[in-house]
Amino acid sequence: MTREMHPLRWGDPAAASPLPEGARALVEAVFGPAEPHAERPSALAAPSVPDEFVQAAHAAVGHDHVLLDDDTRRLRTRGKSTPDLLRARAGDLADAPDAVVRPGTHDEVVAVLEAAVEHHVAVVPFGGGTCVTGGLAARRDGYSGLVSLDLARLDRLVEVDPVSMTATLEPGLRAPEAEELLAGHGLTIGHFPQSFEYASIGGFAATRSSGQASAGYGRFDAMVVAVTVATPTGTLQLGTSPANAAGPDLRQLVLGSEGAFGVITSVTVRVRKVPEVKVYEGWRWPSFAEGTAAVRAVAQSGLQTTVLRLSDETESAVNLADPDAINGSGGSSTDGCLMVVGFEGDSDLVAERRAAVTRLLTDLGGEAVGEDPGRAWEHGRFRAPYLRDSLLDLGVLVETLETATFWSGVENLYAAVKGALETHLDQPALVLCHVSHVYETGCSLYFTVAAKQSADPVEQWWRAKRAAMDAIAAQGATISHHHAVGTDHRPWLEAEIGTVGVRILRAVKAELDPAGVLNPGVLVP
Ligand SMILES: Cc1cc2nc3c(=O)[nH]c(=O)nc-3n(C[C@H](O)[C@H](O)[C@H](O)COP(=O)(O)OP(=O)(O)OC[C@H]3O[C@@H](n4cnc5c(N)ncnc54)[C@H](O)[C@@H]3O)c2cc1C
Repeated sequence: MTREMHPLRWGDPAAASPLPEGARALVEAVFGPAEPHAERPSALAAPSVPDEFVQAAHAAVGHDHVLLDDDTRRLRTRGKSTPDLLRARAGDLADAPDAVVRPGTHDEVVAVLEAAVEHHVAVVPFGGGTCVTGGLAARRDGYSGLVSLDLARLDRLVEVDPVSMTATLEPGLRAPEAEELLAGHGLTIGHFPQSFEYASIGGFAATRSSGQASAGYGRFDAMVVAVTVATPTGTLQLGTSPANAAGPDLRQLVLGSEGAFGVITSVTVRVRKVPEVKVYEGWRWPSFAEGTAAVRAVAQSGLQTTVLRLSDETESAVNLADPDAINGSGGSSTDGCLMVVGFEGDSDLVAERRAAVTRLLTDLGGEAVGEDPGRAWEHGRFRAPYLRDSLLDLGVLVETLETATFWSGVENLYAAVKGALETHLDQPALVLCHVSHVYETGCSLYFTVAAKQSADPVEQWWRAKRAAMDAIAAQGATISHHHAVGTDHRPWLEAEIGTVGVRILRAVKAELDPAGVLNPGVLVP
């Protein structure tokens, strides 16, 4: 049984904690009196998909798994970016699919794609529905209908190879269920994005997701050793060895393909043993620049941490990700910049690495502030999306964007994006940032904004986001480190990969999906 998210909110609202009084007072102090925003009832247009397609889908997956009712279609409309939530809350469900089709096997996926091609129906693969870049809002003009291909029934742990330390999973498995199944074998994937509670294995592969423990476990695409993909022109099965020199690595065409080239129907990932010990601790730095230099020193030291992140001054003070901290009881830093360093693994190895990193950070002038901030971060790591809903309820716009660059460009990128967001939000606003996902050569910068909502908060965000994206492109940084391209970032993709790169993507699309039924308007410019 699929765990469904609320159509207008993140996750299960019953799991959300109420906004602490102190947080509400802080919100009013920064943004003025709360202006609660009402939700408007939404009506869906009647489904318009050819009967012949519906019949073919019935034949492919069975009657019970072709759904045209409003409630199901509502739950498969767009993803969970703030504009997605704001539009849904305002009653705008214009991107709702005409039908939701739920295949249970690879062959059923193939049969649905054949029917979609025959009847020229657009197909939107749907994993966990946590997308924040418009990747579930495909173009529907020119098609006879648009269906959501819900992969939730493809939810098996297919195989564990404890010798090679790999596991093969179906794409519709949500991350917590995948971890639970693997824990039964004493194993973990180690992929814990903030969307962990609802995102799926297929979605991670399709967006090249990166989790909060990426310093230790790596990005999701780096964990994938094999994939199976159903495309309208045939099945691709890739990954026969841990590494190869058999020409360009075609797995990389699948990872990050966002449903535009095919439907991922199985993913084999490298797994690790469930760690014996987990330790997360805090360090304080006088400034973001000094903290960033320390993060770089750790990343380039060869001393592996599992988690390594650093908040800038504003984020350290506000600590938006932890409502208790806003309330003054979370034990987090309120001056300087807070770094969280985490270690997972066998106890001896953790002790050894921790001692070495402690020596390095102490020599660099960091102040160890103990395990409380690390525990507060661990406790609050999946709560921020619920906090976003509480703030939206009060008329505060909250949204995030992320990018990455080489270490030599980090300072300029930070200033340019922060400046663009502050200038273009037009209302009292806070812009917070943290460094996360660190590499020897650079890191990702993750920005969170909180601003008083204007009369048109979707356009308010877009004005700021456009300016930030232009700034990112001008700095030569990436338009996405882990949220992917979707429809939202597509206008900036050519700036990143050039006209030849765009032609390659179009050529691959033309080869695998000549009728263009897969996620039209997503990813490929
Ligand atoms: C609150 C919040 C926090 C987030 N935090 C993180 C984070 O820490 N790190 C991170 O990387 N991302 C994060 N994200 C973004 C999002 O969770 C990731 O992009 C995630 O990988 C999407 O997985 P999903 O299963 O929800 O995919 P979906 O949202 O269902 O789909 C995403 C895209 O992939 C396509 N797709 C899905 N499944 C398949 C498949 N089997 N075959 C082909 N195409 C497919 C879809 O058509 C769509 O274009 C966050 C999002 C939210 C809302």
